[in-house]
Amino acid sequence: MTARVCVLGPSGKMGRAVLDAAAGRRDVAISAAVDRPDAPGLGTQVAGVVATTDLAFGLDACEVYVDFTTPAATRAVAIAATSRRRAAVIGTTGLTAADEEAVAALVQVAPVVVAANFSLGVNLVLGLVRRAARTLGSEWDAEVVETHHRAKRDAPSGTALAIARAIAAGHGADYDRVKRHSRDGEIGARPRGEIGVSTVRGGDVIGEHTAYFFGAGERIEISHRATSRSIFAAGALRAAAWVVGKPPGRYDMLDVLDLA
Ligand code: NAD
Repeated sequence: MTARVCVLGPSGKMGRAVLDAAAGRRDVAISAAVDRPDAPGLGTQVAGVVATTDLAFGLDACEVYVDFTTPAATRAVAIAATSRRRAAVIGTTGLTAADEEAVAALVQVAPVVVAANFSLGVNLVLGLVRRAARTLGSEWDAEVVETHHRAKRDAPSGTALAIARAIAAGHGADYDRVKRHSRDGEIGARPRGEIGVSTVRGGDVIGEHTAYFFGAGERIEISHRATSRSIFAAGALRAAAWVVGKPPGRYDMLDVLDLA
């Protein structure tokens, strides 16, 4: 079975990577590409289709859309997709509560894969840090450090938050009560059980994440380094082929990879 896919933001870094990754795959076929009105490349052919601003056309021409855009675009497209019960793969990070509400409405009527990171490696890391946190307990101080390119808009990265949440789950803790996003000034001694997340920005780094577990006299580091966007694109297309025909609901990459 070949899933017909609409790619959003074909001029973007991830949009381009998704189009490149689609070439040569048999499980997906690009049926439309939709971008914002001032995007470069509109009206030109990409992956056999003409990039357009016509969202209704794009959604009607596909079985599933792949969204790596901006939070505002993700919300607007989710609203348009809800009346069509269109399946979706959503990778945009930094969604606000209102954006999440629009995605939640779509999930009621269509199958949707949402992931802060579509790489196999990071999804394995999520399982590993959860296991490490459960075994080590909160006596071992857990910290997450993420590094990304200078153009990234949101911080901490969605992947860093997913890793930190997996650590909290391993501790049996409520993440929102134990999180500490960066530190500054007279912060006092580190409270037991706190989970710190720190952000580094610069250059063209695609994405690096390290979870630290500091014990007394020893330390564990679990790291993932992305060296190509193709890993996210391939994962997103795998998710697109997988999600078509599934019952309505919210799925993640652990479901797609059968690691849940
Ligand atoms: P980018 O700025 O290079 O691309 C964004 C694209 O969205 C552009 O092509 C822009 O024209 C398009 N766009 C904006 N508004 C639109 C609209 N209304 N309709 C259609 N297209 C619209 O950004 P990027 O580096 O490709 O990242 C995009 C998002 O994906 C970010 O939130 C980033 O954090 C996230 N991301 C997620 C993963 C993952 O695995 N989940 C991996 C990498 C990046």
